[in-house]
Amino acid sequence: MIWFVGAGPGAKDLITVRGQERLQKADIVIYTGSLVNPALLEHAPAACRVYNSAEMTLEEVIAVMRQGDADGQEIVRLHTGDPCLYGAVREQMDALEALGIAYAVCPGVSSFCGAAASLRAEYTLPGLTQSVIITRAAGMTAVPERERLSALAQHGATMILFLSAGLLETVKSELLQGAYTETTPCALVYKATWEDEKIVRGTLGRLPEMAQEHGIRKTALVLVGEFLDGAYELSRLYAPDFSTEYRKA
Ligand code: SAH
Repeated sequence: MIWFVGAGPGAKDLITVRGQERLQKADIVIYTGSLVNPALLEHAPAACRVYNSAEMTLEEVIAVMRQGDADGQEIVRLHTGDPCLYGAVREQMDALEALGIAYAVCPGVSSFCGAAASLRAEYTLPGLTQSVIITRAAGMTAVPERERLSALAQHGATMILFLSAGLLETVKSELLQGAYTETTPCALVYKATWEDEKIVRGTLGRLPEMAQEHGIRKTALVLVGEFLDGAYELSRLYAPDFSTEYRKA
């Protein structure tokens, strides 16, 4: 059996209870060495065989899973954050499907949730925005033309960019073509929830400089929008004059 487990954003104790239990029972762990905190491997038994997928091809990963499964071993494929975002997980699941190998997925805390916690922020604020756009600048992987940053930027919603810390000049110029301005608040969160986490706050006009000044080139999220310091409205749910199923006005 193969378990795809979300490792969480970094801190060792931000894996789910279920994910930790799967790790404790693992005979083989294949982890995303470029992003998963190696401290998480301490949850696995000492005898567990560990593979770093950063040094492997898809075929090699599947070969390890196939052999391990044939030997009746418990296998954990440990992905950073939650596997459902930029995890290259579908191609592994499809390969297992084709081989008739059983697998399941255990969710994790995505880095964008870890970053909100570190920023002590709420992405959806009444009166400001009720939407979050999760996207990336085009890099090694192309982004469909209809999802160009300049097009997504028309909404002025909270925007979270993965995999884009090395492309900030492009990010800035594309976002300025939309509803954001030079003074729109933004933040860079490097290694959210890790011990060496860095948070840099500023405005869109200075986004590339913010990264340069703090030596941030990768493993960071770019967060853009008024949620960072705009004036919002109080929620209706907790308003004294508002009745709900559970509370009378
Ligand atoms: N599945 C992961 C994302 C994998 S893509 C998740 O849910 O978080 C890898 C990108 O995620 C990195 O380039 C970076 O943009 C972001 N990332 C992953 N972990 C991070 C962390 N702890 N802090 C900030 N960004 C992180």
